Amino acid sequence: MIEKDYIIVGLGIAGISFCEQLQKHGKSFIVIDNGEEGSTAKSGGVFNPTVLKRFTAAWNASAFFPVAVDFYHRLSEKLQEKIFVETPILRIFKSIEEQNNWTVASDKRELQDFLSSIFLKSTNTAVEAPFGFGEVLGTAQIHANNLLSYYRNHLKDQEAAILTEEFQYTRIQQKENKVFYKNISAKKIIFTEGSKVIDNPFFPKKAIIGNKGEYLTIKAPLLKLEVLLKGSMYVIPLGNDAYKIGATYSRDDYSLNSTDEAREEILSKVKSFINCPFEVIEQTTGVRPTTKDHRPLLGSLDENPNLVFFNGLGSRGFLMVPLLSEILYDYAENDIPIAKEIGIQRTSRWK
Ligand SMILES: Cc1cc2nc3c(=O)[nH]c(=O)nc-3n(C[C@H](O)[C@H](O)[C@H](O)COP(=O)(O)OP(=O)(O)OC[C@H]3O[C@@H](n4cnc5c(N)ncnc54)[C@H](O)[C@@H]3O)c2cc1C
Repeated sequence: MIEKDYIIVGLGIAGISFCEQLQKHGKSFIVIDNGEEGSTAKSGGVFNPTVLKRFTAAWNASAFFPVAVDFYHRLSEKLQEKIFVETPILRIFKSIEEQNNWTVASDKRELQDFLSSIFLKSTNTAVEAPFGFGEVLGTAQIHANNLLSYYRNHLKDQEAAILTEEFQYTRIQQKENKVFYKNISAKKIIFTEGSKVIDNPFFPKKAIIGNKGEYLTIKAPLLKLEVLLKGSMYVIPLGNDAYKIGATYSRDDYSLNSTDEAREEILSKVKSFINCPFEVIEQTTGVRPTTKDHRPLLGSLDENPNLVFFNGLGSRGFLMVPLLSEILYDYAENDIPIAKEIGIQRTSRWK
């Protein structure tokens, strides 16, 4: 029998951040991950504490932001890879009215550090922005695919830290305040399966709503963009003249097929603010694990206290996970209660 403090199911950003908590506190663990690309791998990797539709701060941004910045810097140092690249977002203004709204917003205490009060003019002839840009500060690009592969290698370098296989829920046994999975025993299992948690029989039915997002990757040699650009869609530079554009939102959709509708939507939107020629080289899809109240889902249910969930990260996973993983660690290890607003127990009231 292999004895560990924790078993973690799924290695996306939630699984990685919980592993980091366990390593920080000297706890032993094993990760079981099927090696498939989840939401983290398919994301845009934009780290943004603001909401650029309405010029507001993201929920709880002032608490999430400093912990997250510190987390990604430390992780980059530990892996000796630059996975967190500070990059401004330029938000294209659609009108004078938007410029005015930005000015008002940039004066608010919670946005002062993020929305620059100086407007920028477009000097890039490939970008149509007659009303100029507002610059968002404190933002970054997370190289999610690199992070996932570096972290997997990091775990492979440690003995019995990761198994690449599909977790079989029917093999869980619970005895004397311990959980057993095949030949592994642990104090608790932490489930970080993203939207695939809907296959987990211990997870409350309908607590997660899959929201499918599609991106196009384009090659545009004349675009010459080194910042994140936000018009009616994001344009995310990938290097070598490649850019990711998107993403779309399709609620209650868990399918991973690429659709013509999404391709048309992205193309028509991007052509409204990018005027240089480009070629589409790839279309990708992923499913965001969202909840009906747009808050994460953390903790366990009364009937199975040793089966713990870390889910519901929606479209802001990168910003939230570092602090949430601290909260979840304190809950799992030290019985510190989780705030009702983000606790999984609240799902009992959901129909
Ligand atoms: C198109 C798109 C764009 C996005 N853009 C951004 C963005 O720019 N910024 C941002 O902050 N967020 C973004 N998000 C949201 C972000 O990706 C998620 O909030 C976050 O990645 C969720 O991470 P997770 O670890 O919970 O799940 P996942 O990343 O899905 O990880 C779960 C892992 O568990 C594995 N797994 C599941 N079930 C099992 C099982 N039974 N056995 C073994 N392994 C299993 C899966 O294969 C997967 O590898 C985006 C999401 C999408 C889909």
